[in-house]
Formats: sequence, C-alpha cells, structure tokens
Amino acid sequence: MPGNPKPLAFTTFPTYRQKLQYDVQSSTHCVLSFDPAKLELVPHYWPVSEGARVPPAELHQYREAHQYLGPGCLCPLLEPLSEEPVFREAAIYLTWFGRYEGEYVAECAKGQCGYLGWSPFSLTKQVLTFPIAQYR
Ligand SMILES: [Zn+2]
Repeated sequence: MPGNPKPLAFTTFPTYRQKLQYDVQSSTHCVLSFDPAKLELVPHYWPVSEGARVPPAELHQYREAHQYLGPGCLCPLLEPLSEEPVFREAAIYLTWFGRYEGEYVAECAKGQCGYLGWSPFSLTKQVLTFPIAQYR
C-alpha cells in the first residue's frame, strides 16, 4: 500500500523503546498508547460523541469539553530511572508534507521519543474497529 511506513531496520539488538516504536507504527487495529505505570503499550480508546466516533479533526474541540487525553508517547522511557514516569500526551494532527502527507498521525508532541502512529486514522474500515469510549 502506498504510504506505508517502511519497517524499522535494526542493525543491533533493539532497545525496549525501539521495540515499542515498531509496535506503534505497525498497529493496524488501534492506536497504541504508552502507559507509564505499566511501562507497556495499551489500546487507546477513541472517543465517541452522540453514538459516533469523534473525527480526528474535531478532537481538539472535544478535548476542551471532556476529560479526554490523546495517546501517550514514549517520552517517559527517556526520563531518569530515579523519577516516577509521567504520562506524556502525543499530538494528533494532519500532516502537510512528508511520508504521511494528508494523513492524520499521532506523534510525540516534543519530537523526542520517536512515537508515531498513523494508519488507523485514515483507513475507514480500520477506524470502525477501533476500541472506543465515552469520556465525561
Ligand atoms: Zn515523546
């Protein structure tokens, strides 16, 4: 499929963060979110409003009226082990250039940890299978 990211090529044994980056990029059934308490990826539950999934373009507005946070990126894995890992929200936005031009992606808001999920946002059939949740 055009636009599919190339698989990450490892020349050495991957770090745990690289393995999770690969898992995020390869996920086709849902957006994966890093849970800093469990130190693992968990499904991100897509918000619904009035029985319909909130379109990516309306997430910012939805977020202001509900207790909703986007998926968590992998930045907690870059913090010193002496500090308690803290949830870091990834940014969801429409890309205007590059490999994912015209696609919605979830990416590390600081551009530090390599978290990048994309394909499920754009493929209608897969969006329909996303795990969902109603947020307050
Ligand atoms: Zn990050």
